[in-house]
Amino acid sequence: MHTHMLFRGARIMGGPPELERGGDILVTDGAIAALGPSGSLKVPEPAAGRAAPAGCPEAPGQPESVTVDCTGLLAFPGFVDMHVHLRTPGHEHKEDLSSGLAAAAAGGFASVLAMPNTSPPVDGAAQVSDLLARAAKVRNGARLLQSACLTQGRKGESLCEYFEIREAGASAVTDDGGWVTDGAVMRRAIDYAAVCGLLPLTHPEDPTLSRGGSMHEGRVSTRLGLRGIPPQAEESAIYRDCALSLLTGNPVHVCHVSTAEGADLVRRFKAMGARVSCETAPHYLFLTHERVLGFDSHAKMNPPLRTERDREALRAALADGTVDAIATDHAPHSVLEKEVEFMDAACGITGLETAVPLALKLVRETGMPLARLASLMSLNPARLLGLPEPMKPGSPADLTLVDPDLEWTYLTEEGLSKSRNTPFEGWEFTGRAVMTVVGGEIRYRLVRPWRAGDGWLSDDPRPPARDRPSQPRPGASCPIGRLTLVLQLHARPTA
Ligand SMILES: [Zn+2]
Repeated sequence: MHTHMLFRGARIMGGPPELERGGDILVTDGAIAALGPSGSLKVPEPAAGRAAPAGCPEAPGQPESVTVDCTGLLAFPGFVDMHVHLRTPGHEHKEDLSSGLAAAAAGGFASVLAMPNTSPPVDGAAQVSDLLARAAKVRNGARLLQSACLTQGRKGESLCEYFEIREAGASAVTDDGGWVTDGAVMRRAIDYAAVCGLLPLTHPEDPTLSRGGSMHEGRVSTRLGLRGIPPQAEESAIYRDCALSLLTGNPVHVCHVSTAEGADLVRRFKAMGARVSCETAPHYLFLTHERVLGFDSHAKMNPPLRTERDREALRAALADGTVDAIATDHAPHSVLEKEVEFMDAACGITGLETAVPLALKLVRETGMPLARLASLMSLNPARLLGLPEPMKPGSPADLTLVDPDLEWTYLTEEGLSKSRNTPFEGWEFTGRAVMTVVGGEIRYRLVRPWRAGDGWLSDDPRPPARDRPSQPRPGASCPIGRLTLVLQLHARPTA
């Protein structure tokens, strides 16, 4: 017996362009079975007279099929966030696998790549397998992709065992949080990672230039009397790693580009034929160093918020294809680490639950096509990390349904991350993810129009809200924002 899900009438992004006006997606047994124009696909009737498979525990009367009316919604290939910190192992008071993966799914991400700068760092195959096995048990969250350290203990000296790490299921190697200052070590890492099919990620920051700084070096840092981090700390590191990509002929991915010249370096090295890719984070597209006026530690991140000119240049680099991915750099911290003097506060903000609404805001402000957003948040990161090509028959059914018109207010107390360190608290948004499907399983859904102060989520792991209805039963129909989920039970014909 097969299980089927039919997503009917969504504007489908990231698939065949003709379906951007409207189409159906049929999912069978967790994989995309077919894509077609609106109204063209149906849930197959159960084959008459077929007996239940031997040992089938649910017989008789099986299996469920689900039809989701997606009128007014966008269907994206499941979003992939290639830069998150889930703080596991070692700092589970900030985030753990359950809370981090649930926050990811609630934000619309089907997969996230976790960074290995944990305590201890993830630098061996056994740790990778252990984390992936634990994450596989989180039923209401995104799929975990794990990266491992580029060098043992993140010390920047000897390379990890990439082949074993790859065999254990890792997708990338990085010493994120710090730069590999030894160029010869980085050169060998790029070559070894290419042989093993792992993507090397570089955190571009020359510590000899950034040390002691807590914000962008410029007019605002001078006014506030804070030591600054010059953009050249980032740009010189980007230059070296792009040059090493050109030298070796192998891929390098540059994390969280925050400056105009940094993006331009990637643009120029791409033009020279270097196999470089890069990401930027939503906060660099919306905030500048002016946000630090007032010493709000939620405006402290690494790399720091830059100038208006950098912000504009990054938006242009997204539009012209220089930037390959929008990644959150989700960096949860507890109140204790953030509510201190600016200079002592930890770097980073949470980002999983604000990335999609911010990206939709960017689309509204810049006129960027939605298909480009599908590339930035799904197709490109999936390709870079070696995932199956999404939104194609035969590929795993990873889907993000987005209501582009839903108006809501972001409040951290209603979020699923353990941490609340965000500069976007109270922002009013139009549009958000209303359903996240991972391998054909609904991992998140928003079950009624979300309003400030009384929102709740059906898959919220917190204690049940006062007025939360029970889960939909077969045959019932359940409002999901402007979307209706119809569960049907196909009775198995008696043989
Ligand atoms: Zn980093």
